[in-house]
Amino acid sequence: MKFAVSSKGDEVSDTLKSKIQTYLLDFDMTLDEKEPEIVISVGGDGTLLYAFHRYSDRLDKTAFVGVHTGHLGFYADWVPQEIEKLVLAIAKTPYHTVEYPLLEVVVTYHDEEREERYLALNECTIKSIEGSLVADVEIKGQLFETFRGDGLCLSTPSGSTAYNKALGGAIIHPSIRAIQLAEMASINNRVFRTVGSPLLLPDHHNCVIKPRNDVDFQVTIDHLTLLHKDVKSILCRVANEKVRFARFRPFPFWKRVQDSFIGKGE
Ligand code: NAD
Repeated sequence: MKFAVSSKGDEVSDTLKSKIQTYLLDFDMTLDEKEPEIVISVGGDGTLLYAFHRYSDRLDKTAFVGVHTGHLGFYADWVPQEIEKLVLAIAKTPYHTVEYPLLEVVVTYHDEEREERYLALNECTIKSIEGSLVADVEIKGQLFETFRGDGLCLSTPSGSTAYNKALGGAIIHPSIRAIQLAEMASINNRVFRTVGSPLLLPDHHNCVIKPRNDVDFQVTIDHLTLLHKDVKSILCRVANEKVRFARFRPFPFWKRVQDSFIGKGE
């Protein structure tokens, strides 16, 4: 089987990366950074996001697993002390995988010819470079509201514990194929009105954001920040593609939420 190891780039993660590579080569696995069947990410959630984007054009052929060298991550849940166990499990293929939904983002421009498509594992955020974001929000082709405020965040279920959570969004189990729309500091008064609650859209609905003012936009896709000029609309929906994580032991999502945000309990 073909594998690749992606490191955060610090000394601890790089050392662990070479160890994992040596062990897997000893098991007659093939190092293939172009077309890996499994990618082991060593670092934190950010490292896994980076690895996801590197291999996002072959998601149906690649599974991911994360080792954390810092604090427990949502995607990086193996600790460095467990790598022998992990390597053995990887070498003993076939392994079990779980699939999580992704967010598809399509940006169109007033120049009709152009269209950019992105996939997000966590979320997409939309902000105006100057002043408030003023945008019409359409749901399933119907105008829902005109948003005025800092920005909007559209997240996946597995990304619901990231930026979305800081915005007061709900935590969504990744078995639910949906995306969540959360507001960033909306202006609500006698003149401007938004729903004020996060919305959960099922996989057959979409959300289109149409900027009202002619300013530049800052669009983030996970850890990537992109500047967009001349934006006509930004379409968000559940993507057809899915991300696959290799699972070698049970680690239920709600346990992960508890360990990360509440502590291990009594
Ligand atoms: P980073 O290293 O600053 O990561 C921020 C934190 O987000 C880290 O602690 C990481 O473990 C955590 N994180 C990432 N994905 C997560 C997930 N799915 N569930 C729970 N925690 C998660 O920045 P980065 O490595 O470039 O990561 C980018 C991510 O940072 C973005 O996708 C966004 O979700 C998050 N972010 C959060 C806030 C916020 O909470 N206010 C603001 C900006 C970005």
